[in-house]
This record gives sequence, structure tokens and C-alpha cells, in this order.
Amino acid sequence: MSDANDAAFARAQEALPGGVNSPVRAYGSVGGTPRFLVSARGPYVTDVAGREYVDLVASWGPALLGHAHPEVVAAVQEAAARGLSFGASTPAETELAELVRERLGASSGVERVRLVSTGTEATMTAIRLARGATGRELVVKFAGHYHGHSDGLLAEAGSGVATQGLPGSAGVPAPIAAQTLVLPYNDLDAVRAAFAAHPGRIAAIISEAAGANAGVLRPDPGFNAALVALAHEHGALVILDEVLTGFRVGPAGWWGLEGAAEGWAPDLFTFGKVIGGGMPLAALGGSAALLGLLAPLGPVYQAGTLSGNPLSVAAGLATLRAADAAVYARVDAAADAVASAVSEALAAQGVAHTIPRAGSLFSIAFREHPVRDYDDARAQEGWRYAPFFHALLDAGVSAPPSVFEAWFLTAAHDDAALDRIREALPAAARAAAA
Ligand code: PLP
Repeated sequence: MSDANDAAFARAQEALPGGVNSPVRAYGSVGGTPRFLVSARGPYVTDVAGREYVDLVASWGPALLGHAHPEVVAAVQEAAARGLSFGASTPAETELAELVRERLGASSGVERVRLVSTGTEATMTAIRLARGATGRELVVKFAGHYHGHSDGLLAEAGSGVATQGLPGSAGVPAPIAAQTLVLPYNDLDAVRAAFAAHPGRIAAIISEAAGANAGVLRPDPGFNAALVALAHEHGALVILDEVLTGFRVGPAGWWGLEGAAEGWAPDLFTFGKVIGGGMPLAALGGSAALLGLLAPLGPVYQAGTLSGNPLSVAAGLATLRAADAAVYARVDAAADAVASAVSEALAAQGVAHTIPRAGSLFSIAFREHPVRDYDDARAQEGWRYAPFFHALLDAGVSAPPSVFEAWFLTAAHDDAALDRIREALPAAARAAAA
């Protein structure tokens, strides 16, 4: 059946590489025609053919409150009426930094926040800062973790790099790739071995607070705490990447669920997605001493024409202000409901599966055994996901178009939306079983 989505995709492919501006949107691993969206409200998105879907992508995370939340839209409209971009500081940027600091609390060590426009910029800047602070060059990352598309961080990356089965990216000079040591996740011995093999040379370990870009990869109990202890023992810093988990799995992100209780903190946090409420905004945070190394105070350069953009900051402030305990309770409950419904439907069809879970984030892995690292995530019957995905889509439920992506719930997923997902699941499970 050909519809307006096919026409939109055909036209897009003549103007945009692959018809998209970000690879996973092309449905490469599930096949078929990507839906071209024209609007979104609450838990629903509407495509160019006028069809409505329950959305489980939430713009890949930002839409914590649901799409087009009235308070967020009003804040952006008010800001827009006052001017789109000034290239000068605004009081609202300070308010947002203060709010981030307040949400994280003193034990996080976040005293200063630098606003940037994308998660990629946040992690790239955090790494430059760690190198500037330590005078060292090597960086440790974990296989299957995704930290954006800067040169040094694409090796064995998750998200679209995993979806396309790539070891990294063409165009990254070998000397740059060689400065990143890629280790298996949840493997502290590998981290110890890296410090032993490169004494005094590792500037930082960067790690997703809880992995969510090769499907969900939950950190083993004590893993993050041990990372911080090991890094500090060897004079290296820890960058906790909360671009995806920050302000989504709780008011203080994954760290708030784990580190705050266990008494550890990273040296730098990176945030994105929810912090901008759907507008381009991201941030890094850390101590006044460390962030004081950034220009204009210090020698580590970073800048941005649109950094702290007034519309983005307005959306971020409105989103964080609305994200109260009730919002997180609703998102958690919706995630519980969908994760158990998925599992029940697959079990009813005898499909081997496990549902890796970290707070309100979960994904599906078509294997019996738990998933602890990227090798586990790849060792599954991933081909079952495409028919599962398409059966959901046909029934008006838009799941992430890759088995390596987390499912995102919002506070707007009410009973009506959850019922539509539940109704769609038996047929999807039958398709996955075939
Ligand atoms: N870090 C993590 C953990 C992410 O999930 C992402 C994006 O998915 C990024 C960084 C990059 O963020 P952006 O796509 O805004 O550049």
C-alpha cells in the first residue's frame, strides 16, 4: 500500500542523504517506509497520511511530559515573542543552571553548568576538559555506549552505529581513534588492566550512567562506584553521561537513584534531551574548579553561537519545573505496564526474551539470558524485532525502529494509550514468533 509517507520518503531521498537527518530514522534495520510526522500531542504522533500512533520514541527521550505539553509550548511561544537568539547572556540561563544544581544537590559536586546545544557537544567538551585538567590524552569508553558523534567517541558505539552494525565511522583519523580505549561494559578487571597497561596516560573514563544505546545495559550493582574509585586512584576523571538518563529516570537522573544513595559522584556530568524539553539544549556540570578551566576563565576552549538559546532554555526550564514527583511516578508506572505487557505477550507465544531495565527505561532482547554488555546485546535473535515492530506499527503503535534502542514512556501515556499498546501486542508477538 502506497501512501503519503512513501511519497514523502521518495522525495526526501532526492534531497537528504538516505532521506533523513539522523540515521536510525531511516528504518534501516526494520525495513519499510519511515513515517514522516507532522504533529505530536501527549502520547501520540500523527504522520503525513493523517494516521495517529501511540508513540514510544518520545523524540528519543526529551518528551518526558508528553508531546506539546501546554506549559512548555507556552514558555517557548513567550520566549519567541521576545526574540529568537541574542548571542548574549540571559537571566534565564542562570536560572536553568541553578535549577540543575538544585535538582542534583550538593553531594553531586555540581557547582557550575555550561549550556551547549547537543549531547554530542556536551560529551566532546567534557572530554576536552578532562584532558585539559589532567594533561593526559587517552579516554576509556565502553562498547555499546553512545556518546554522540564526535570523532573520538564512535568506536564500537551504540545507537545508530550499533543499528548499522558498524565498528566505528569512516573519516575518523587513526591517531584519533587510537586515543580511545574501548572496554567491555560491566567489566572492572578490564578497567584495571587498562590503567595497568597505560600508567599515567588515561585522562578520563566516560560511561553512560546506565547504558541505553545497545538496548538497555544496566550497570551491575557497585560498578559505577568502583569506576569512580578506580579512576581517582589512577589520577583520572569520570564523566558520567546522563544525556539520556538525566532528568528522565528521576529528578537527579540515574546518579540520583544510585550515586546519591551510595555516596559517590563523578567529576563531570553531561546532560541533554529532557533538559531541553524537545529543543536543542544540553549541558555539562561539575565543580567550580573544573568548570573554571573552561574559557573565558581558563585555557580549555568551548563556545557556541546558539549556546543557551532563549527558546531552548525556556523549554528546558518549563519542562524541569513541571517534572515533579507525580510525573516520575506516572512514567515509571507506564514503563512497568508496557514492559510487563510486552513480556507477557512474547511469553504467550513462546518467544525467548529478556527485558533489560534501568529505571523507567527498558528494551527487548530476544534471548533468554540477561544482557550485561554489548556482546550479550548482539548475541540475540535480533531479526525477530522487525516483524514485531511492523505489527505494532500496523496497529498504530510506534516503537523505536531498532532493537538496540530503549523504549521511552512519557507522563502523558494514559490508560487509553496503554490499552492501545496492550491490544497491539498479541499480533506483534505472533509476528516475532514466526
Ligand atoms: N550521550 C548519550 C548517552 C546519548 O544517548 C546521546 C544521544 O542519543 C548523546 C550522548 C548524543 O546526544 P545528541 O544526539 O544530542 O548529540
